[in-house]
Order: sequence, then structure tokens, then C-alpha cells
Amino acid sequence: MKLYNSLSRRKEEFVANEPGKVKMYTCGPTVYHFAHIGNLRSYIMEDVLEKYLRYDGYDVTRVMNITDVGHLSSDADTGEDKMVKGAKREHKSVMEIAKFYTDAFFDDCAKLNIKTPDVVQPATGCIDDFIKVITKLLEDGYAYQAGGNIYFDTSKLKQYYVFQNFNEDDLAVGVREDVEADENKRNRADFVLWFTKSKFEDQALKWDSPWGGGYPGWHIECSCISMKYLGEKLDIHCGGIDNAFPHHTNEIAQSEAYLGHKWCNYWFHVHHLNTNSGKMSKSKGEFLTVSLLEEKGYNPLVYRLFCLQSHYRKALVFTYENLDNAATAYRKLVDRVANLDPKDAAPIDEEAAAALKQKFADALDNDLNTSLAVTVLYDVLKAKTTPATKLSLIGKFDEVLGLNLLKAADTVRAEKAKKAAAAADADQAVFGEGDPEIDALVLARQQARKEKNWAEADRIRDELTAMGITLVDTKEGVHWSRG
Ligand code: AMP
Ligand code: ZN
Repeated sequence: MKLYNSLSRRKEEFVANEPGKVKMYTCGPTVYHFAHIGNLRSYIMEDVLEKYLRYDGYDVTRVMNITDVGHLSSDADTGEDKMVKGAKREHKSVMEIAKFYTDAFFDDCAKLNIKTPDVVQPATGCIDDFIKVITKLLEDGYAYQAGGNIYFDTSKLKQYYVFQNFNEDDLAVGVREDVEADENKRNRADFVLWFTKSKFEDQALKWDSPWGGGYPGWHIECSCISMKYLGEKLDIHCGGIDNAFPHHTNEIAQSEAYLGHKWCNYWFHVHHLNTNSGKMSKSKGEFLTVSLLEEKGYNPLVYRLFCLQSHYRKALVFTYENLDNAATAYRKLVDRVANLDPKDAAPIDEEAAAALKQKFADALDNDLNTSLAVTVLYDVLKAKTTPATKLSLIGKFDEVLGLNLLKAADTVRAEKAKKAAAAADADQAVFGEGDPEIDALVLARQQARKEKNWAEADRIRDELTAMGITLVDTKEGVHWSRG
């Protein structure tokens, strides 16, 4: 499989550190608010990557952190702590909102068919691990203490700006929200590993450390949680593109300084979901959630299809018109799958299946081209092969795409069957005044209509009319009355 690697800025053949095994790390949400559908775009695309690696036969272990401490509103070291901000907004404790929004995040993920990673670790559960790594960075001269905080010294690295050729001015742009000069920093790019009580007196959560009571910076959590569960060598690290700098840049700096060797081989960054007025962001306060889409009547999987229809390395513009197009496409796709008869006796045609599987793999092997992979579903539907072949391929491909196609098609088939049964019953149902002779005549007319014997049906109707009986045909059956 070829994957674009943000480190080398080109597509590279994916080679795992250990053959057949993939160690994958994902930056989890900062749980001070609901995830917006932009955040979820990143998680959907990362989910497809994980599922495709599994489909391809890899044994994947995926770890995700939950940021419940330390993430300041600027992404760098300035501004208010996002969790404290969320707690104040809702008059709750930090741990209460962390629990509430973590649960809400996984509810959204379930609706979007995003698999929960093998390990989900809140940052507040790993304080000892952070202290251990920071202590070693201090011992090895990669960190220093100033004004009560511990900083990472970026000047000690051969190369700090690993993803792009950032320079000092780009850095100022990268953290432009609330840029405050921090007098304690030796170099402008240095970042905080540990805050002590000397900063943010209203910080809700504090822990003892060799440097005084305080709390960790945001970046250290991902390095430590990844190393704790996945060891010293990571295959793939994922996140939204805004995380490349400063977050992932800092993760690399501290992890490699700590380990003394290269840490992660592939960096997978999902580009942003934008609205017509720019990037969707939690801090702007106005954003779209999965619940809101549901309230408007959209199946969350329509949003998943919408995301799959474009490439993860392109910005995606959200409009309701685009979402409506995805909704129509989804409905048509499901209807076409529902038209395939699961009881058809013709067996699976292995040759036809192999060619279509190859097409599907070719699409995803090329830097996860999901929109092309979705079009392979239409190729399957159009193919001159048996329903069993088509249903088996759709089921297999959907293990990766996660659109619940077979289940949705079952529901459509069940609904159709229910309607057909209701229609059949309607042929039998007679509602009247309890006169068996009239009931029998009405039923005979129904039977004649069913057999398309219109002349007989009309004859019986005329007979009933002559007897003073009025008939009303309804969906549930025929109602008759006298007079
Ligand atoms: P956060 O909860 O803010 O830490 O972000 C969670 C994930 O969503 C991170 O991987 C971000 O990079 C990603 N993200 C944030 N905004 C967007 C967006 N508009 N489109 C896609 N991904 C985003
Ligand atoms: Zn992270």
C-alpha cells in the first residue's frame, strides 16, 4: 500500500516495522465540548485506514488518548485551559465534563461506524509516565526549568521543524491566537512539558511532581501514551492536519530526544472540513454535530459516505446541498443492494470476485482513495455475475467502508415484505356490519379483483349495490355499509 507521509512529503510504500503488525496511534479528542463533524471527518478517515490495514491482513493495534488536561486554547502554551473553560461554561467539574463529552464522542463514533481503538487512555491516568519522561529529558539536557515550568529546549535538536520548512515567522502565525511572549523560554519554539502552580492559578487538576504541584503540557501526553502501549517504535501516527504543527512536531521532538532514535515512520494527516466561512472549529463555538444532523433527519452514515466520497488530503467543504446529494446516493445504493436476492441459488463466481477485489484494493492501495473504492461498489452492482458474488463482495468491502450496506438492505427488504404482506391481507380483510352473506360476497369480489377478473368483480359490486350496500376500498381492506 502506498501512503502519503507528511514527513517525507510524498507517497511511500507502507512497510511495517514488524512484518504483519501495525502499531497505530491517533490523537484523541479534547473533551471539553461535543466533537464537531470536522473532528469526526478525521476519525472517519483514520477508521477507514485502520480497517483497510486489517482487511489487508495486518494485525493492527491502535491506541488513542483522551485529552482531559493541559490543552490550552492556543495549541501552544498560551490562553486558557480548554477543560477549565468547558467546566466554567457548564458550571461542572472538569472530570464531570470530561466523562460527559468522552461518552458523547464514542456515541457519535458508534453512529458513524467508527471502531473504538484497542486502547483508549485519558491523559489524567498517566501522570507518572509523563513525570518519568520529563525527568529523563531534564537529566539528558533536553529540558530546563524556568519560572516554575519545565520547557523542552528545541535548540538541542538537529532539526525541529520536521513537517514543513517552518521558520520563526510561520511559528508566530501557527500560534497566532493569543500569542503571548513567555519570558521563561530560551528559544521561541520551546514548549512546556510541565506547568507548576506558578501559572494558571485556577487550574482545576494538579498533581505532585519533583518540580512542584502542577499539570502536564498537552504534547507530552501523546508521546507517553503511545510509548506506554506501543513501545519505542510506532508505524503510523494519525491526526488532523492542524495537529502537524505544533502538536506533532513537539511530539517528535520530545519522543526522539527521550528514545535516542527515530520514533514514528508514517504521519497520516487528514485535511480539514470547512464551511463556506472557513475551518470548522470547536473554539469558534458554532459547529455542526452528529446529533444536529440526526435532528435534521439525516442518517449519520450519509455523512460517512459524504466523507468517503472525497480524498482525505483535500479540504472538504460542507454544505447541506452536498450532504443531500450523499443522502440520495446512499438511498439508491441501498435500494440496489436490496434488489439482490440473498436466496438466489447461483454460487459465488470466484473469478469475477477476484477481479473486483483487485480493483477495490488498487483504489485503497493508492493513498487510501476512498472515493474510487466507493465507485467499485457500483462496478460490483453492474457486474455480470451472480447475486451471491455481489452480496459477498459488498459485505467484504463494507468491512472497510463501514456503510452498513447489507444491514440497511435487509431493512429495505423487510419493509418491502411487510408491505407486500399487508397488501395480501388487504385482499382478505372485510369490515362491515357482521353479515356473513355480505362478507362472503365482498370477499368473492376481492378474489375476482386479485385474479384480475374485472368483469366478475364489477358484476358482484353491482349485485351488492342493488342490495343497498356501499363499498369503500382502503389500504387495510374493504369497508361495507348499508344505505
Ligand atoms: P481536538 O478535539 O480539538 O483535539 O481535535 C480532534 C481531532 O480533530 C484532531 O485530530 C484535529 O486535528 C481534528 N480536527 C480539528 N478540526 C478539524 C476540521 N475542521 N476538520 C477535520 N479535522 C479536524
Ligand atoms: Zn496528540
